[in-house]
Amino acid sequence: MWSYQHTGFTVHQIEALSDNYIYLIDIAQADILAVVDPAEITPVARACEQLGRTPTHILNTHHHSDHTGANLELKARYGCRIIGSEADEARIPGIDEVVSEASSFNLNGVEMHILDVPGHTRGHIAFALGDALFCGDVLFGAGCGRIFEGTAEQMWHSLNKLSQLDDNTQVYCAHEYTMANLEFALHADPDNAGLAARMERTRTMRQANTPTIPGTLAEEMATNPFLRPLDKSFRQSYASRHQIRDDALSVFTHIRNAKNHW
Ligand SMILES: [Zn+2]
Repeated sequence: MWSYQHTGFTVHQIEALSDNYIYLIDIAQADILAVVDPAEITPVARACEQLGRTPTHILNTHHHSDHTGANLELKARYGCRIIGSEADEARIPGIDEVVSEASSFNLNGVEMHILDVPGHTRGHIAFALGDALFCGDVLFGAGCGRIFEGTAEQMWHSLNKLSQLDDNTQVYCAHEYTMANLEFALHADPDNAGLAARMERTRTMRQANTPTIPGTLAEEMATNPFLRPLDKSFRQSYASRHQIRDDALSVFTHIRNAKNHW
């Protein structure tokens, strides 16, 4: 378990399944311990025991089973309250409360922001608390989620929305995919010197079994090929290299398709 201190709360990071991360948002003064996307119960129960705390809430970014797999067991064991998106009400096991970008949401008085970020699934949401963003399978280290239920346009719109958060936002995504993503990123964005440096740092971290997550939004803006279409000179050079239109959506769609066949 790794722990990160933020103003007013701590985030604990737990490894699960083969490459998932489960997060515990620990707001001690409000007596909150919220589990984000519990893939399985055992590592969560172990972490809670270590912390001497009981989980109070479950926050689901989307309905996939590697994000909701332990919902019912955790609820039965600890009585957690389960929060998920309105659009996925019928698909999130044990859901107690639905939220969306339009609704205000707080955990015992601590305000959280909800962002609707469809594309990977149609009901995908992200949770933002202070400078921490829990974005499930929308944005990854140097990558983005596959488009299973939405359109490329929706996914691009969702990534665009995340790109407008503060540069210092800590991005807590749900998988450790960074190293593999960077190999593709170097192919899509070969002239980006920041990418080669990131690759070196990432390799060192993974060799030491250190998570590459969280990272900053600024780093993703500079090196994530799925956010790079926001940069005009990248967009133009990518479009001319692949002989496609140089608008952001066309470039994003081309990169997403290329990654699907990588
Ligand atoms: Zn997913």
